[in-house]
Amino acid sequence: MGAMDTQAILERIKQRDPHHEHFHQAAHSLLDSAAGPLAEQGSAFDDDALMTRLLEPERIMIFRVPWVDDQGHSRVNRGFRVQMNGALGPYKGGLRFHPSVNLDVLSFLALEQTFKNALTGLPLGAGKGGADFDPKGRSDAEIMRFCQAFMTEFHHHMGEDTDVPAGDMGVGPREVGYLFGMYRKLSRTHTGAFTGKQPAFGGSLLRVEATGYGLIYFLGNMLAQGGDRLDGKTVAISGAGNVARHALEKALEQGARVISLSDSQGTVEVPEGFTEAMLEAVAEIKAGGGRVADLAERFDDVRYHEGERPWGLRCDIALPCATQNELDEDDAGRLVDNGCAWVAEGANMPCTAGAVKRLREGGVVFGPGKAANAGGVAVSGLEMGQNSRREFWSEDEVDERLRAIMARIHRRCVAHGGDGERPDYLVGADLAGYLRVADAMAGQGIL
Ligand code: GLU
Repeated sequence: MGAMDTQAILERIKQRDPHHEHFHQAAHSLLDSAAGPLAEQGSAFDDDALMTRLLEPERIMIFRVPWVDDQGHSRVNRGFRVQMNGALGPYKGGLRFHPSVNLDVLSFLALEQTFKNALTGLPLGAGKGGADFDPKGRSDAEIMRFCQAFMTEFHHHMGEDTDVPAGDMGVGPREVGYLFGMYRKLSRTHTGAFTGKQPAFGGSLLRVEATGYGLIYFLGNMLAQGGDRLDGKTVAISGAGNVARHALEKALEQGARVISLSDSQGTVEVPEGFTEAMLEAVAEIKAGGGRVADLAERFDDVRYHEGERPWGLRCDIALPCATQNELDEDDAGRLVDNGCAWVAEGANMPCTAGAVKRLREGGVVFGPGKAANAGGVAVSGLEMGQNSRREFWSEDEVDERLRAIMARIHRRCVAHGGDGERPDYLVGADLAGYLRVADAMAGQGIL
């Protein structure tokens, strides 16, 4: 035991994994938020040894994923699972299939997941996994073979009480179906060991929508804290995937004017605000493997900005929902200068450290991803509950619980980040998440 020496802790993790820059960024941000208040409060969890243990994954698996493409060529990818922390429950977190996947990215995501899952109040540990496989341009048969190959190895490491994966980037309901099917065949059990399943075979209603809807529920709580509301606000959203589209849908429902979506090639701007017809068209375009640029071909009111991100647009609220580090310090400066007053992260760590600093200095109320995007994993927790009770809840039941969980996360952030009109959500989320995990770890001894 001993009070935290944050510099020494960071030095140790940098020495151990010098190239894990994303992980360092996430750990640095956590220590920046938590160390000061823990020391001030004389917390029993201002504990160097405990924090050092928490920053070391419990277990890491790396495995070969061999598969055969449609031309009959043998291919190989690398599969991973980081089982980060099991103190609160089974390791829980998604699988990502993307060429950028490596141990650094997965370790940072697993660390974020630890606090996110703790914040939900559900009995969920944390993990993250995936493969450096690029699903773009692959046929359905190739995707199925890849998922089956991945599961041939991974099924040894999972189970409803040990490790419960779900989707993430590149892993949607179709991939979860193939992965779960292979797991069921190999383990000969039909359990809640995988979430994000289709409702036809054990999935929960609203799981697909949950991250995006949850983001808007959390944002609604942030606005209400300051005596404000979403109705009539101008919102810029990045991304065009699951999180971005469902956030857009819910924001429209609540009367916001949403002016953008984006992908890695550029941004579509709709000055008058997206309509439902446009949103449906985006879903169709994405399902067919198209680009957001295609939307501008279909609607006169849509402008396309090649190679640009949405952060130069004038908005009240920015919701980065694409990927990590997609909003940098300059983007943050533009948002502040253009009068943006709220940012809530739909993706995991989409704002760089410099961006977060700039936003906070500029007086923007900032909702970090580990709180704001926890709706997805929260409904995964509800799916596990339905599976083990052999129940299937209605959409209204799931939605009501999701709203309640997001409101509870908001209350936890406010309890630790200040309860005025402009709480420090970053400090609040980090402290509340850390305290719950630290308490569970301490109670179980040095493991
Ligand atoms: N991948 C999602 C996340 O980043 C969901 C994980 C889950 O449902 O287990 O939180």
